[in-house]
Amino acid sequence: MKEVYNFSAGPATLPKSVLIKVQEELLSYNDSGMSVLELSHRGNDFEPILEDCKKLLKELLNIPEGYHIVFTQGGASLAFYMIALNYGKKKVAYVDTGVWSDKAIEQARLIPNLEVDIIATSKEDKYLSIPKQIKVASNYDYVHITTNNTIEGTCFFNHIETNGVPLIADMSSNLLSSEYDVSKFDLIYAGAQKNLGPAGVTIVIIKDELLNQGKNNLPHMLDYKTYVKNNSMYNTPPTFSIYVTKLVLEWLKSFGGVKAIEKYNQDKAKLLYDFLDNSKVFYNPINKEDRSLVNIPF
Ligand SMILES: *Cc1c(COP(=O)(O)O)cnc(C)c1O
Repeated sequence: MKEVYNFSAGPATLPKSVLIKVQEELLSYNDSGMSVLELSHRGNDFEPILEDCKKLLKELLNIPEGYHIVFTQGGASLAFYMIALNYGKKKVAYVDTGVWSDKAIEQARLIPNLEVDIIATSKEDKYLSIPKQIKVASNYDYVHITTNNTIEGTCFFNHIETNGVPLIADMSSNLLSSEYDVSKFDLIYAGAQKNLGPAGVTIVIIKDELLNQGKNNLPHMLDYKTYVKNNSMYNTPPTFSIYVTKLVLEWLKSFGGVKAIEKYNQDKAKLLYDFLDNSKVFYNPINKEDRSLVNIPF
């Protein structure tokens, strides 16, 4: 087979060893005589896959007690709406750092009687930087940031101070590619296909306090409580995507975890940034301290 370099932001490349394992196990998973694609999500073979996936996420991200991990469908794009639907009551705050945060804002604005404020933006800087010293008033239901801006190539490498307001982060393009202190976030979500697995599953990590503040009487499939109560199996979850994601997490663990992949990503990004900064032909316009480790436009 002729291999190519695939630089697509998503669906992105997966570790070769993971693809080989998928291939090996595809016709008969764990001597079940069935493909993982055919296993009942309520059967004895699938449930451990989902549990392992959660256990690995908890371990690799160092998720403290008091959080739930659920798997949803509809991508990060549905999460844009679900977050505002579940947790937007009166007034919510967004930091605008580019295309994806803009789409999140747009979806929040669909919720009736919800005030949606953009409390910081780097728009006037053409999104070439990350807003600094963001002030969050204490009367917001939540504040939303996009940690890694996939298209613009900028990154929040840390949480932001929120004055006690729940912090929600779209980490679709950098969850598990560098370290964050999960305890500083109240909800983290990520479509898997940018760097964790196939398209079709969205990983959502929710703190119990926020979960309990969620509105009631929402459509079941749009209510995060449904996913928590039913261990992500109110309806048929995206079983294959969860299975492949589990394999990627096992791979990441054997790589040395997030600390090791962060170092690897820093070294890899440095190679490219150093080249770009010394090139007479190409350049990267992003403010140096805000440069993404995983999406490098030039
Ligand atoms: C790709 C991407 C999305 C959209 O993800 P889907 O799973 O395709 O809905 C949202 N946010 C960020 C930061 C992304 O990179």
